[in-house]
Amino acid sequence: MSARTGPIVHLKPGRDKSLRRWHPWVFSGAIARVEGTPNAGDTVTVTASNGTPMGMGAYSPHSQIRARLWTFDPYQEIDAAFFAAQVEAAVARRGAPDEGGPWARRLINAENDGLPGLIVDRYGDQLVAQVLSAGCERWKEEIADALLAATGCAGLYERSDAEVRIKEGLPVRAGHWRGREAPEVVEFHENGVRLLVDVRHGHKTGFYLDQRAARARVGQLAAGRDMLNCFAYTGGFGLAALAGGAARVTHLESSAGALEMAARHAELNGFEASRWTSVEADAFTRLRQWHQEERTFDLIVLDPPKFIESRQHLPRGCRGYKDINMQALKLLRPGGLLVTFSCSGLLEADLFQKIVADAALDAGRNLQLVDRLQQSDDHPVLMSFPEGAYLKGLVCRVE
Ligand code: SAH
Repeated sequence: MSARTGPIVHLKPGRDKSLRRWHPWVFSGAIARVEGTPNAGDTVTVTASNGTPMGMGAYSPHSQIRARLWTFDPYQEIDAAFFAAQVEAAVARRGAPDEGGPWARRLINAENDGLPGLIVDRYGDQLVAQVLSAGCERWKEEIADALLAATGCAGLYERSDAEVRIKEGLPVRAGHWRGREAPEVVEFHENGVRLLVDVRHGHKTGFYLDQRAARARVGQLAAGRDMLNCFAYTGGFGLAALAGGAARVTHLESSAGALEMAARHAELNGFEASRWTSVEADAFTRLRQWHQEERTFDLIVLDPPKFIESRQHLPRGCRGYKDINMQALKLLRPGGLLVTFSCSGLLEADLFQKIVADAALDAGRNLQLVDRLQQSDDHPVLMSFPEGAYLKGLVCRVE
């Protein structure tokens, strides 16, 4: 074995514990000293305080997460071949789903697929990537080569316009990256529903693929029900419900653009206009108003945006979850179903369940937990990286 060259990150005594458990992050406070002068994204060897090499990672001088490990093999070369192998393995794990037409899946789920800071979603033959770490930024052209080679997709669009880039000291960026220009919308099928995604203007990479399994579940629960699809975005859960035989769907959403797409989706799938309606409003105020007007539903899906962005937002976010769940419960007819989610990684599943239980108490409704839901299987969670499990859902029935 050749002598080690290149920069070395030396950890403080006792601060190698998380790496021994294969957790891929090195926080700035765990570092005793840095040998050499690595630039952002450069490969560093991370060593324990006794000099034992622990693995190879990417250096990120501007982030509290000062290094993210590519591998726990300290003798692994980090080069184009490494990224080609990681990308190919992640793509192969998803297989070729049978959706009876063009399909969409998350192909690379960042840390959970061994590529910290890289998100790649596939919609039909269009790829959309978010490059969120200094390490992935450093290797981005090699990664793009690998993505196109492993998938045979026609085009790659970049949506690195996420705020976490700022913490990494990287500029916010979005635009065409490789291959064919992305069309205005890309069509794909999900659980038999035809969907469109606008990869330029949609949220994140354009669509919330993490809820695919939950949308299928809601489709099974919806027959004959009068449904409220609260925080509807482009209609996902409501379309699944209509396909599953819901009597009527009301999409409630604050973004007019998202609701326009929901209308386009209903037409594309041939759902009669009499079966659905859209309401552009703030959910918190509109649910209160409906309660006063004694408006009721027998299935409510609550899929709000992330209320808890950092630890300091935890108390306020918890109050938000409690409030919205309480307001929803007040609108449910006896025997009605509440399917409620939190995508805040900082809110643990147990606490979320307690919040919903408290909301039921305050709403004066007896609530049964029927099922638990989580992110779809193309968003796997690396067991040594519990941060990967962010989405939790509860299916509940009210008396
Ligand atoms: N259920 C959707 C994803 C929802 S994402 C799906 O399956 O595709 C959360 C949505 O809530 C976003 O579309 C956002 O525009 C909307 N939103 C955020 N705050 C809101 C508010 N106060 N009232 C209504 N909608 C809101």
